[in-house]
Amino acid sequence: MKTITILGSTGSIGTQALEVISKSKDLTVAALAAGRNIELLEKQAREFRPQIVAVYDKAAAEMLKIALGDTDIKVISGEEGVIEAASMGADVVLTAIVGVAGLKPTVAAIKSGSDIALANKETMVTAGPVINRLCKDYGVKLLPVDSEHSAIFQSLEGVPKGSLKKIILTASGGPFFGKTKEELKNVTAREALKHPNWSMGAKITVDSATLMNKGLEVIEAVHLFGVLPQDIEVLVHRQSILHSAVELSDGAVIGQMGTPDMKIPIQYAFTYPQRGISFDRLSLSDIGTLTFTKPDTDTFRCLPLCIEAINKGGLYPAAINGANEQSVSLFLEGKIGFLQIAKLNEAAMLNAESKNEYTIDDIFEADALARQYVLSRA
Ligand code: NDP
Repeated sequence: MKTITILGSTGSIGTQALEVISKSKDLTVAALAAGRNIELLEKQAREFRPQIVAVYDKAAAEMLKIALGDTDIKVISGEEGVIEAASMGADVVLTAIVGVAGLKPTVAAIKSGSDIALANKETMVTAGPVINRLCKDYGVKLLPVDSEHSAIFQSLEGVPKGSLKKIILTASGGPFFGKTKEELKNVTAREALKHPNWSMGAKITVDSATLMNKGLEVIEAVHLFGVLPQDIEVLVHRQSILHSAVELSDGAVIGQMGTPDMKIPIQYAFTYPQRGISFDRLSLSDIGTLTFTKPDTDTFRCLPLCIEAINKGGLYPAAINGANEQSVSLFLEGKIGFLQIAKLNEAAMLNAESKNEYTIDDIFEADALARQYVLSRA
């Protein structure tokens, strides 16, 4: 039996992870953590019986404590509560909190010796070198959940060290594929939230529409697989069937295909190196055609901006990530237009100061400065 802690259990990844666990006889829940959705947390706690439930929002945690009063489940609160849940020593901790808020709990989980099923890409984007060092020091496995990185990870199984030449990172292109800048001027948050293939949380869905998500994934791949940004080719693949691929030294290309269903990579991170059950089976004859095109980086500026950030290195990725979290939140509130997201992200990144050696505190400082900069210019 493997014990799993889920950070962000009420979100899109978190709920799908619990679906995976509910279908397995070998997986059980150690702890759950979320922001404030206590109605769903109560249901999850009653069904999965974790030892601990952590709620970031302290007032919501007090209400959940009362609601779960007839059980022996411990309810804890605040960032320290989420960190306590992360550090209780589960076999695997799934990091599915959205944004840089996932960073400190992930560090705590690594320090307590749990393997990490990594959905929260912002952790690797902002702190990749720090996380890699910690995983090595604590002997912890980092198992990617992002479908593209899971595909690369799976494609590299059995590949000898030194044979990887290039990563082919696929992108759906999002809801605005093929649109011009003029057409994007007045698009609304409602339109941006209509993803063609994946059903995900609001922030990552907007990131998919701007191609920021692909930019963040380039940075994530650099740190996870030890490649240079120029060795990653992004291709728009509208069907989201080939989840990504690797090109090897002899020209062979190995990829992983499947239906666009996050339960597959979530389950693989839980059962690795074993294979679990199947959800939907892929029928290639029903799909018929797979297409691949280069992304339009003149229109969708966030992708080249992220590549610029990782090439500059240091705290620039943390700065562009923080700026983006702020600008996406302003866009979702209807306070800025779609095209302003990339403009504000770029300005905040160029305004950032960087260091080559940095700590987690420096990352949060760079994040806060970038957010303030976006707010001052919006
Ligand atoms: P959602 O917005 O659907 O869910 C976010 C989760 O984080 C919720 O459970 C939320 O709780 C919780 N949360 C937010 N802030 C805090 C906090 N400070 N402390 C504790 N919990 C918090 O996001 P997704 O599931 O879509 O994405 C989660 C992560 O996974 C992101 O980093 C995303 O990039 C990554 N990812 C997602 C994919 C997807 O298909 N959705 C695919 C690949 C990666 P509450 O609801 O109670 O506020």
